[in-house]
Parts: sequence; C-alpha cells; structure tokens
Amino acid sequence: MNLKKHSVTVLGSTGSVGVNTLDVIAAHPDKFEVFALSAATRVDALLAQCVQFKPRYAVMASAPHAHDLAEKLKANSLKTVVLHALDALEIIASHEDVDTVMAAIVGAAGLASCMAAARTGKRLLLANKEALVVGAEIFMEAVQSGGAQLLPIDSEHSAIFQSLPDDPSTWSARIEKIILTASGGPFLRRDLLTLRHATPQEACAHPNWTMGQKISVDSATMMNKALEVIEAKFLFGLHPSQIEVVIHPQSIVHSMVQYLDTSVVAQLGTPDMRVPIAYGLAWPGRIASGAKALDFTAFANMSFEKMDLMRFPGLQLAWDVLAAPRGTPAILNAANEVGVAAFLDKKIRFDQIHAVNLATLAAVAAPAVHDVSDLLELNLRARAFAQNFVCSMEL
Ligand code: NAD
Ligand code: MG
Repeated sequence: MNLKKHSVTVLGSTGSVGVNTLDVIAAHPDKFEVFALSAATRVDALLAQCVQFKPRYAVMASAPHAHDLAEKLKANSLKTVVLHALDALEIIASHEDVDTVMAAIVGAAGLASCMAAARTGKRLLLANKEALVVGAEIFMEAVQSGGAQLLPIDSEHSAIFQSLPDDPSTWSARIEKIILTASGGPFLRRDLLTLRHATPQEACAHPNWTMGQKISVDSATMMNKALEVIEAKFLFGLHPSQIEVVIHPQSIVHSMVQYLDTSVVAQLGTPDMRVPIAYGLAWPGRIASGAKALDFTAFANMSFEKMDLMRFPGLQLAWDVLAAPRGTPAILNAANEVGVAAFLDKKIRFDQIHAVNLATLAAVAAPAVHDVSDLLELNLRARAFAQNFVCSMEL
C-alpha cells in the first residue's frame, strides 16, 4: 500500500477554484499535502492559506506583494519561501517534489505554468481552460511527450471524462458526439432589448455557480461555453462537428456522451466544483468531496432547450476558430480577455464584448505557429489590437 502523500501545487489558490481545491485537500490530510500556493495580488488571503497549509513555496505576481507576504510570514514564524520572478510559477509547477498541479489561474497568464507541469509529467488538473484554448495542439503535444496526466476540472469536461471508457484509444471508434450542457447564465430569459445595457453586477450574478468575475461574464455571454467547446476538442480529440451544446438551466446533468448505438451516458450532481476537483485529485479512485448529494425527489423538473444563437452569438465563434488556421483560438481568447476586462471596468457595454471579439478576429492574422513563444507573441499582438479597438469604441 502506498502511504506517501500526494504533494500538490495550487496555482491561483486564492480564487474560486483554488479555495475549493484547498477545501478538499484540507478534508484529506492523510492523502495530500500542499507544496506551493500562488496568488496575483491578495497578500492577506495567501498569508491565511500559508498559515493553514504551511507550503514550502508561495508565489506572488509582483515584488512589492512578495515582499509584503514575506514580512508577514516572518512575523508568523513561518518558513515558507516567497518567490515572484517571471518563472516562479513554472518553478513551483515543475519542481521534482511535486506530484499534482492544480491549474486555477484565470486566462492565458496560466499557460506557461501549465506547460511546465505538462513537460515534467505531472498530474495536471486543468481548470484554467484559457491555457488549453491558447496552447491547443502544442499544449497536448507537451502532455504527450512529458508523460503528464491531464485531467479536466471544468465540470462539463469532468462529466464527459467520467462518462467515457478508461482507455482513450477506444474513444474515437465508439463516440458519436458529446453534448455539453450550459445553464444559460443570468441572461437566459432577459429581454433582448435591454441586454446591451446589462451591468457587470448583473452579468456576474450567475444563477447556479459562484465563480470568479471573468468566467461569470463569460457565462453571461456564452463565451464560456465557446471556450469549453474548444477545450473539449483538444481534450478528447474529437472533430468539432461531434460537439453539441444544449441549454440545461438546472445545472444537474453536467454533460453527456452519446455513443454510436445512441446510448447516452451522463454524469449528474449538485453544482459544486469540489466534485470535479475531488475526482481529479483522487483519480482513478474516489474520495469524499464535501458536496451535498442530489435529492431526486426534491427538484421539480430537469429541462433541456435548444441554444439560441441570436441571444448568444459568441458561441458560434468556437466552431469558426477551430476551422481557421492554427493559432486562431488564441486570438479569440486574447480579444475576449480584453473585452471582458473592459466591460468589468465599465469602458464598454455588455454587447460590445462580442464586437471586440469579431473585430480582433477579422484584423489579426495567425502566423505559422510552431511553439509556445509563437503563441504568447500572438496573444500579445491580439491583446494590443483589442485594447486599441476598445479605446476607439463609444459606450
Ligand atoms: P478567480 O478569478 O476566482 O481566481 C483566479 C486566481 O488566479 C486567483 O488566485 C488570482 O490571484 C490568480 N491570478 C489571476 N491573474 C493572475 C496572473 N496574471 N498571474 C498569476 N495569478 C493570477 O477565477 P476562478 O473562477 O477560480 O477561475 C479560475 C480558472 O478556472 C478560470 O480559467 C476559469 O475559467 C476556470 N473555471 C472556474 C470555475 C469556477 O467555478 N470558478 C469552473 C470551471 C472552470
Ligand atoms: Mg464549465
């Protein structure tokens, strides 16, 4: 029997997924120990996590934040080493003493650390979908060549993974299609005439999930599902035409696989990220997640609806960029990150996020992409165009 604890790095530990991950880890001190934690700017939140989990390393995004954290750790007599250099996230993602890396940073900012974990053969728990959307084939090649175990944490992709046979080499010969469910977010029933004036506060009020601001806005525009279609294509090696999206407002069926014989296998549960997190941490085993179990007699109904592309035009962009040259998903992701940040800053309207995405896709060409540095450069170029475009927009 293997009694060694799994040593875990949590990238983005102060965020919504990061906090849920530490909640599951805290419930299983016999199985997991925290090797490293990271946050962008929230010093006190990271300090509290260091006090509780006593990691070997803590990473902050800038020198002043790192200095502040180091002082506070010293005052608490903690030996955690604080890092902040550009490659600090890569160091804690690829360290030889780490078994498992939870990628819970938001946006393309998480790509380099995901690649470091992939190349060094870690168990990589992927919540940071933007990293795979940007990294695409190059990300998957690094997983292959590094011998990493890439396990999805996005609830839909975890559901699909749980509904598939163990042996990935059997998938393509058996699967007809996968069906991603989408709750529809806060604006599923909103009057279309008023949607353009939706506020950040309204966009972030998701009916079923409590999440970070960026993914909440993406859920309101349905760009989250577009990113998930792209994520599914690379994770499961499917043709884009084999990926379907259906509205399921209750978020109970987390996604489904339809096989060649028309059988559908689905995974169900309450909407609680600790379920896919616990699955990723324990795979191929199962551990308690802390989530409330479903009570089938307690909910009135479970419904499914056709996707409305008039309301959610951004969704179609997933298939468009997958049919375009390599690198195009990175352009879409960059534009969307800039558009969402501008909307949250009240610089553009809700409907203008889609306009930023369309304009950036039309203006920025994908060059030949060979490696991650090509992708990161393309990401910066697309961001620069989108920033300028945002500045030229009128509210
Ligand atoms: P969040 O905003 O709550 O947390 C993000 C974390 O990343 C924080 O710890 C923050 O400090 C850190 N961070 C942000 N920018 C950074 C940067 N430039 N450099 C280093 N660290 C940085 O986000 P979240 O909701 O936890 O989502 C994290 C990722 O997981 C996203 O990609 C999201 O799409 C995905 N995801 C989230 C959920 C959810 O329920 N929240 C569900 C599925 C997938
Ligand atoms: Mg999801």
